[in-house]
Parts: sequence; structure tokens; C-alpha cells
Amino acid sequence: MLDDRARWWLESTTGLPLKQTSHRAQEIDLLFTLALAAGRRRVTLSWPRLDESTGAIRQPSEPLAREIERLSGTVLPAEDPAGAQGVERSPAARPALVEHRPLLDEHEYDLAALASGRPELFAHLERSDRFQQALAAHTNRWRRAALSDYDGIVGRHTVTASSFTPTSLQDLAACPFRFLLRHALGLQPLDERVEPTPDPRDLGRLAHAVLEELFRPLLGLRAGELPERGQLIGQLEALVEKHRRRLQREGVRGLPVLWRAATQQMRDELARIVSEELARLGETSCRPVDVELSLCGRMSVGATNVEIRGRLDRVDEGTGGIVITDYKWSQGRSFHTAKAGDKRLFAGGRQLQLPLYAWLAFRDDRRPIERVRYVFLRLGARQHALSVDRATLAAREHDLQGLIGELAARVDAGELLAVTDGGERCRSCDFKPLCGPGRVRLERIKSTDARYVAHRSLEQGYP
Ligand code: SF4
Repeated sequence: MLDDRARWWLESTTGLPLKQTSHRAQEIDLLFTLALAAGRRRVTLSWPRLDESTGAIRQPSEPLAREIERLSGTVLPAEDPAGAQGVERSPAARPALVEHRPLLDEHEYDLAALASGRPELFAHLERSDRFQQALAAHTNRWRRAALSDYDGIVGRHTVTASSFTPTSLQDLAACPFRFLLRHALGLQPLDERVEPTPDPRDLGRLAHAVLEELFRPLLGLRAGELPERGQLIGQLEALVEKHRRRLQREGVRGLPVLWRAATQQMRDELARIVSEELARLGETSCRPVDVELSLCGRMSVGATNVEIRGRLDRVDEGTGGIVITDYKWSQGRSFHTAKAGDKRLFAGGRQLQLPLYAWLAFRDDRRPIERVRYVFLRLGARQHALSVDRATLAAREHDLQGLIGELAARVDAGELLAVTDGGERCRSCDFKPLCGPGRVRLERIKSTDARYVAHRSLEQGYP
């Protein structure tokens, strides 16, 4: 019932000995052996071939893989273990109108009626506009290699976007279809899952709100005037509690006990951050001068220009210039491979937030900006802390404009196709239920289209 993160929270806050996956291997082996030995005449072992959320091929568990290899005497083919000798594939059963098997719901009835081939049973579907639309979508997506409007090729000037945020551009670069769903159509995930653990995005919102409230009264105070570390840290408990209650009133997911455990841990993490930030302000003779600062600028990209908007968490002013800080709660996967100044600053557009904040900040010549930096709030993330200075941005500014120009041109042309990279880009996407588990196969059916190739090459063109 509990994932590793929840187990870790509970173990670290309550002392309950809850083992995580890595510690359970021996138990899994033992349970597997017992399950095998329990079969009297025959044992059937099965695993789902496709990952429900990414549509990628799934590998059988370690003991099951070992067993298949032992019985077949061959090595499991990594690309599709279901192809191993001795493994049978059981396709999901089609619903059918069988007298003694009740159908689950009206959708299953409709499918069974269609499968029966008896027009009198599905005449109601033929009269339904919605069904006809669904049929057209299915045919265009699955039966034709050519991209259509059902694949996000919605046509020139259908979507108008002349103003972008770093997040909307990152979505556009990662998967243009995600941009279409979230930013052009304004769809929000319908979160009906009963998840016991708090959503990391809600935890991030909470941490941001606490830091804003903590630093706002310090605006304008110089190093010697800043309150004592202990005084600020002493406020954390009440602030975290206040915002936790507010968020829970608004209706966030997660069990109250896990929220309490998560916020208890958050207090320690924020105490460490406050302590480090106060020390840094003292050492660099900086004073905080703004929190939650909104910036906006127009970037010229080819013959046109686009508006870029961003909100910066904190602005500090010191003798060396202004330092802009953006807090990050979760550390995205891409940050593991990128450091400012190296060749992977943009990661094909999937990592634009910091360069765009830097671009917005450095445009303002009235204020000499020293650098723009991320502060990762969670333990263990600091070694990956990133910052961008003026020289780094200047060296890549031309590339940045080229990249934004290409992305904006995709919106203009209405070419907002789904790019999954074998399911990799879908991992943290809210729209997985909408795109369905088959989206990885879909990309394979259509991926010879030059527009796929062009979008994937952003990674090489704008590393
Ligand atoms: S689930 Fe995958 S294909 Fe669908 S919008 Fe998200 S990233 Fe794109």
C-alpha cells in the first residue's frame, strides 16, 4: 500500500521499521519460492507485458525472470521478454455478449455489441455523434501512418500563443501535444486517484509559501540587521503548520498522517536552508530586496518577437550586484546531467527555466545582475545546485533565441504532435490517462514523419 517515499517518511519520523524495496529482495525470493511450492499440479506465472502508465514493455520481476531462464535454458530477450522460449502471450479478452458473463458497464456492452457484428445491437452507436468522433479519432490515430489533427497537427494559426512562461516552453519542447492539452486547451488533470502520499507539487507550493512569508519581513535589512538564525527557524513550525492546514482545506491528495510526516521533515529541510541562506547573506553583504517578483520581456526571434514571463522567488542586492534565487522543491531528472556553463544548458528546451530567468533578469541594465541561481530545498540535492551568470548566458543567447523561435514556429504552424521517447517523456506527465498506454506504439507507427525527426533533433541542435 505504501510506496518507498511514504515508508521512508514514516520510518524517519516515527521509527517504525518499514522496509523499502531495496531491503525486501530476500523476502521476495522467499515468498516466490513458497508460491511456486504451493502449486500441486501446475503453476502459471504471469506479468503484464506493457506498463500501464508509459506503454513501455515491462520486464518480469527478478525471481520470475530467473525462473523463465532456468526453465527455458535461454537468456531473456531484453527488448521483449514475452518473446522468451516457453512464454505464452495471452491477449486481453474481448468483451462478448455471453449469457452467463455479466458485462461490467455500458462501455463494455457497446464493445461487445460491436464485436458481435449484429447491426441491430449497435444502431444506437451509429446515431451518436460522440461515437462517430471517437471512431474517426481511432481510425486516424491507429490505422494511418500520416499525422492528422487527432495527433496534434491542428493547422496553422489554430493555436495562438505569443506569450510564454518557462514552464509552457519546457512543456512544448518536451512534448508539443502536452503543450496543446495544458496550455492551449487549458486541460487540468482530473485527479481521482486515492493516493496515500502527498503530491510533491503540493509540498513544493507549501515550501514556497513558507519561505515567502519568512523572507518578506526581511526586505531591505542589511547583514547586521537580519534577525538571529534561531529566531527565524523558530517561526518555521507555525508557518509550515499554517500552510499545511490551508492546503488541506483546499483539498490536496494524501493521508493526513503522511502530510504530518512530510511537513515534519520539511521543517528540518527548511531550517537548513534558512540557516545557509542567512549565512550567505552575511558573507556576501547582501540584503533581500524583493520576493515573488514578476518579470516580463520581449525576445526577438527571427522576424517576430515573443513575450516571456516569469516570477522570481527572491531578489538579493549586494556589493557585487543582484543575485536572483529560485527555489526548487523537486529535482527534475534533467538537472542531474546539467550544470550552468556546460554544453547541456538547454537540454533541447526541456531545461529552460533558469536560462530564461537569467535572460529576463540580465535585460534590466539599471540593475547589475550578478547571477541567477536555483536553491534546491531538499536534502541531497545541493551538489547539483545550478546558477547562470551573464557570461554563460551571453555565450548561448543566440542559441536561446533560435530555440525559442523554433518552438514558437511549431505553435504557429499548429504542429503539436506527441513525442514520447519510448515513454521516457511521459513519466511525470499528467496526461498519461488521456494519451493511454498505447502512445509509445503510436509514435512508432508515425515516427517516420519529418516533423518527429525535426522535434527530436532539438536535443542535438540546442543541447
Ligand atoms: S502522456 Fe506523453 S504523449 Fe501524452 S501529452 Fe504527456 S508527454 Fe505527451
